[in-house]
Amino acid sequence: MDLLRERIRARRARERGAILKDAPIRVTLAYPNRYGVGMASLGFQTAYRLLNAEPDVVAERAFLEELPGELITYESGRHPAEAHLFAVSIAYELDLTNLVRLLIRAGLRPLREERDPDDPIVLVGGPLTSSNPWPLAPFADLIVIGDGEEVIPQLIEAFRRTGEKEAFLDWVEGLPGVFLPGRMEREPRFATARPETLPAAAQFITPDAEFPDTFLIEVERGCPRPCTFCLARVMYGPTRNVPLDRVLAAIPEDVPKVGLIGAALTDYPWVKALSRALVERRQRFSYSSVRADRVDLELAELMRAGGMKSFTFAADGPSQRLRDLLKKQIDRRDLLKAARVAREAGFKRFKVYQMIGLPTETEEDLEEMIEDTLALAEYGQVALTISPFVPKRHTPHFADRFAGVKPIESRIKRVEKALRRHRPRIEIRSVSARWAWVEAVIARGGPEVGLAALRLVERENFAAWKRALTEVGWRDPLNAPEPNLPFLAGVGA
Ligand code: SF4
Repeated sequence: MDLLRERIRARRARERGAILKDAPIRVTLAYPNRYGVGMASLGFQTAYRLLNAEPDVVAERAFLEELPGELITYESGRHPAEAHLFAVSIAYELDLTNLVRLLIRAGLRPLREERDPDDPIVLVGGPLTSSNPWPLAPFADLIVIGDGEEVIPQLIEAFRRTGEKEAFLDWVEGLPGVFLPGRMEREPRFATARPETLPAAAQFITPDAEFPDTFLIEVERGCPRPCTFCLARVMYGPTRNVPLDRVLAAIPEDVPKVGLIGAALTDYPWVKALSRALVERRQRFSYSSVRADRVDLELAELMRAGGMKSFTFAADGPSQRLRDLLKKQIDRRDLLKAARVAREAGFKRFKVYQMIGLPTETEEDLEEMIEDTLALAEYGQVALTISPFVPKRHTPHFADRFAGVKPIESRIKRVEKALRRHRPRIEIRSVSARWAWVEAVIARGGPEVGLAALRLVERENFAAWKRALTEVGWRDPLNAPEPNLPFLAGVGA
């Protein structure tokens, strides 16, 4: 414990933005991963700011620490379960087991039905809840689906008026974006933030986050594009572009680096004006990726002037046929043009995202991907990241099969073999097909998948997942005698 206190003290000394206060309503805001990952989450930071903005609420952070043992909060060092509300932000399917570990290490019984009425109310929000809240159902008293900006103040008001778990749940039942897994059989529609509540902007800056010393700001929420594999279109609701003056006003002039966040950042109408303004203010900035059809030399030069070292774009489908199937709206010329402007702007290396294991994919599609990668390598060093396609609820692919671990592994090997001799001009990184299978199971699983995760707290690997799923009676929903397709599609699909 002393070691943990010492580590927290050191991290606190390096970060900026912590809110220290005392107030009658205590909230623990926990992240089911380590400090560096949680502090790179703008949603987590936004929840912290919204909660602490309520005068009678104090929210303190807790993370799933690398050090073993009990957790404590970062602000006052109290026990995380000494709170009225225990709120968790979860982003990824594969953090499901971490959620269980987090609850246990916070001193809470993970299963909702085993907790006492005076235990903290466990709230779970974050991107995973919009994608599929069902595996979280055994653990959460309440799941927030959609934008927290609208829901969090209402939850606090409900607690203020009730002060007790059952009365609180009675009060909030029926609110948009509020899912009560113990009481409701269908998930509600997403809560959508009013444009005037945006932008979401960082509360913290720290060198210990995954994006070190970076002020994060979301300049747009939602995406109007039709890409069939992507949740952004349905998950974040209508596209809301934050006007340029509001974005600039929200960025403190003394922060050295700004991380611009948006589903498809290069569609943001003021992306060049914002980049230029930041260059003039001598603030470095970065985008996670650009759309190959939107980037031109002017934008690439602004990216360089803003200090970006990496130029990233997504092809997302190995061939034109499959990109068209996915409605990606990008063709080979766009990919080559993006590589060319990157080189002309001075980037020597670019990252390209690809997906394989798509419905109807054939050997010819992979051949085309190999040819395209070789063509891109004419313009610079290519870092190719290959991810297995994971079908998600709320998308047109909700009833497509996962291509399978072995087929995906053999397709990745096929691509690696063809491109191996071009190292280091072409470097390949591939995402594990086994973990993609686990992700696919969680992405379309029900409460039983959460119960499988409960069995994996001590030891988690692919074989253990398969065993645990069998033990809880999981069946591939697409192979069930009566596939529950409306459930798979979910609301809003
Ligand atoms: S892949 Fe990008 S452009 Fe397509 S819908 Fe998703 S965020 Fe929008």
